[in-house]
Amino acid sequence: MFLVFDIGGTNMRVAVSSDKKEISNSKIIPTPKDFDKGIQAFKQIADQLGGEPIKGVSGGIAGPLDSEKTMLLASPHISNWVQKPLKDKLEKVFNCPVSLENDTALVGLGEALKGSGVGYPIVAYITVSTGVGGVRIVEGKIDENALGFEPGHQIIVPDGNPCNCGGKGHLEAYVGGSYIEKIYGQKAENLKDPKIWDEISKYLAIGLNNTIVHWSPDAIVLGGSVIKSLPLNKLEQHLSQTLTIFTKHPPIKPATLGHNAGFYGAFTFLPFS
Ligand SMILES: [Zn+2]
Repeated sequence: MFLVFDIGGTNMRVAVSSDKKEISNSKIIPTPKDFDKGIQAFKQIADQLGGEPIKGVSGGIAGPLDSEKTMLLASPHISNWVQKPLKDKLEKVFNCPVSLENDTALVGLGEALKGSGVGYPIVAYITVSTGVGGVRIVEGKIDENALGFEPGHQIIVPDGNPCNCGGKGHLEAYVGGSYIEKIYGQKAENLKDPKIWDEISKYLAIGLNNTIVHWSPDAIVLGGSVIKSLPLNKLEQHLSQTLTIFTKHPPIKPATLGHNAGFYGAFTFLPFS
């Protein structure tokens, strides 16, 4: 049996698979704030989901990782997990190889392999949820990178809105769910005013314009809760006006795999035997 996981700032999802292709059973719990309790939770959930010996573990965690991909380096939500030896601890608990990645990178990889990105060699996956993240996938693999991908922290307005990362004018600070709530006084899912959505779409189009000119993707896949409310036709209108250097923008496709996307990405990092 193989174990795959997705540790977010709010919830932690763990699933098991026997064939590394489909999930046979899964469980979701609130992410324990305490790292040691988090490790205990892994063991308990694995027992509940089958109890068979685990042959490989692979998953993602929200935030930047060290270059060896063994631990989380920063997180506003689960600060107690920062700088803790997550990979080593899981290897000891399950006595098998463990692979750790950024959670958004695995979701994007999953969408490229099994979801909306199928058939496109270069996929730019952008998630607009509480915050904004993304990843560049090339030929079914997370593209080489030195520090990870952080398209949410590209500057779209000089000296603009403050971002939680400490910067100003970042894309996330205009279209991220928590910022939308702060700016417009309502959660994205309750926002009905088309003028407001037009404004949000315009900011996102600027971000996508920049992503397209730098990443040159065959398709853009958009995931995250805010995308469910955002009018995609407005976004495409703004993008067509903004992106002038290319004759047309690559197809913009909503993500289709939902919460399981990261598991499909995680499967590719499991050992063969
Ligand atoms: Zn930022």
